[in-house]
Amino acid sequence: MTMNYAELHRRSITERDAFWREQATRIDWATPPGDGHEAICDASQPPFARWFPGATTNLCHNAVDRHVGPRGDQPALTYVSTETNQERTWTFRELHQEVQTMAAILQQLGVGRGDRVLLYMPMVPEAIFAMLATVRLGAIHSVVFGGFASASLATRIDDARPKVIVTADAGSRGGKVVAYKPLLDDALRLATHSVDHVLLVDRGLAPAERQATRDVDYLPLHEQHRQAHVGCTWVDSTHPSYILYTSGTTGKPKGVQRDTGGYAVALATSMDLIYQGKPGETFFCTSDIGWVVGHSYIVYGPLVAGMRTVVYEGLPTCPDAAVWWSLVEKYQATVMFSAPTAIRVLKKQDPECLKRHDLSSLKHLFLAGEPLDEPTARWISDAIGKPIIDNYWQTETGWPILSVAHGVEPGFPTRFGSPGVPMPGFDVQLLDDSTGQPITTPDTKGVVTISHPLPPGCLQTVWGDDARFAKTYWSSFPQRQPMAYNTFDWGIRDADGYYFILGRTDDVINVAGHRLGTREIEEAVSGHSAVAEVAVVGVADSLKGQVPVAFAVLRDASRAATPELAQALQAEIFKTVDQHLGAVGRPSRVVFVNVLPKTRSGKLLRRAIQAVCEGRDTGDLTTIEDPTALAQLKERWGG
Ligand code: ATP
Ligand code: MG
Repeated sequence: MTMNYAELHRRSITERDAFWREQATRIDWATPPGDGHEAICDASQPPFARWFPGATTNLCHNAVDRHVGPRGDQPALTYVSTETNQERTWTFRELHQEVQTMAAILQQLGVGRGDRVLLYMPMVPEAIFAMLATVRLGAIHSVVFGGFASASLATRIDDARPKVIVTADAGSRGGKVVAYKPLLDDALRLATHSVDHVLLVDRGLAPAERQATRDVDYLPLHEQHRQAHVGCTWVDSTHPSYILYTSGTTGKPKGVQRDTGGYAVALATSMDLIYQGKPGETFFCTSDIGWVVGHSYIVYGPLVAGMRTVVYEGLPTCPDAAVWWSLVEKYQATVMFSAPTAIRVLKKQDPECLKRHDLSSLKHLFLAGEPLDEPTARWISDAIGKPIIDNYWQTETGWPILSVAHGVEPGFPTRFGSPGVPMPGFDVQLLDDSTGQPITTPDTKGVVTISHPLPPGCLQTVWGDDARFAKTYWSSFPQRQPMAYNTFDWGIRDADGYYFILGRTDDVINVAGHRLGTREIEEAVSGHSAVAEVAVVGVADSLKGQVPVAFAVLRDASRAATPELAQALQAEIFKTVDQHLGAVGRPSRVVFVNVLPKTRSGKLLRRAIQAVCEGRDTGDLTTIEDPTALAQLKERWGG
């Protein structure tokens, strides 16, 4: 039977349980779903949804163990570091052993079912062994992006309360060593939670202090357990596999809690219908394991599908801008996944160097994470001569909400500027912001929402805070039945059903693919004692997408009375931000002003500030409290 996309999507919603029962056969189960009296989806307590309750499985088994029989000698993981000049491949059989060795070490350190293991790691193979080993034991990992500084790390440690933290002495970026261990030590001093052990992968890049009894070295333990046998712990499909923090626009970061069975099924489905990766082929995703794209499409998705995954540590432009494409050629990658911001970096290079390599193995390039502008999409498509497929999703959903499912309908056309149409199980609705009514007229702006229940793979809740889950995501349109999940993105749908994402309804700055809440940066800038008040806005930047700019009101204006003083103070503030948040959050400029533009009700007129910086019209200012505020801001900005 040939199936068209529209029919498949309709079935995934109207015959939900039958559809997902079929998809569930893509993975291995100890107890298959739907046996006995349990439902495929327990949607009885909205906004929650429990997928395949009562069925048991293990994510590591599906990613590794089940492939050892049919393809034990095929490559599973290839690690390439242009920072340390390493290149090494593990077959599924070898990966199986590494993961068991890591599991034995974690077990020795006391990790068991339900315990949390926090990873603060650069892109090294041990990070992936540790993720897989954690879920193997029925424990829960929480990977914290290596670019975060101590304070951000400490908040996440206190929220996840891990038993063990796995870290490395250092990472490396563009040949510059970035020490991790001292940052972790600081974070552990700041945190109120204390951990039993820190497992240290010493790469020999930077000196690392060890705290007796707490800190243990990976290498000797690896030697001790090199032939360990540690079986998979079967867990309920609804058992959490990991916690992953979003960038935290609202202050305290949200810990997205993911299940086990639903996630494995969703990834296996996406690998077939969307990414079209086949067992034995190679998948190359250029993200970082600290982000959701790394979780789903560096680690679990490709491995669950029996593909080799290429894990790359290094810059996209080192030794030259052809490095990624050289890896595609060398490892015969059939699927590649990157982000628009990375492509914009390459755009500054000579397109000829992209043509140096034989890319005939590659079928598609997928891009996600931020709006893909048409010029960038066309440029990369021309440069590499391959179709580009946009996909729109969130940390919360774990896999694409919108894309095109070429695995179902190969000819389904893509449209520049649009990530595509809803993927299976996502009942996407555009709602009118003020009335909450569904928008039926084409090309009309609305809030992108998803009707309850969210499909398999999406967040189960906010870790440790069900009330926050309900309030944050499900309370914007209280009159909707079924309940509506708010993506906090604006979108429009054209007459053919293609969606276009217009931006987010809250304020987040996207610096070269790193999403930072304006609130988070403001908090960091305010960490400097001279700062009384601050507004941070994202200003368009041709290279980085956006850069944060801070407008600060000082407690004592004389501290920035001369350009020299202002310069010195700005440097101090940069340092404060680096300490609180990490260098990714550092504003490109701190502009000192006497007053910030606010509404009468005291809300910052962020959009007006942004408009001034980008030289646009500031729009309706009838609610402004002090009209001189914007004029001064404009003058100090230099507009
Ligand atoms: P936080 O929720 O803490 O503010 P975040 O939303 O910035 O963090 P992610 O979950 O990584 O972090 O990003 C998801 C968001 O990125 C989407 O809601 C959307 O705004 C944007 N996005 C992702 N992919 C696309 C895409 N293909 N096109 C347009 N926007 C996209
Ligand atoms: Mg978000």
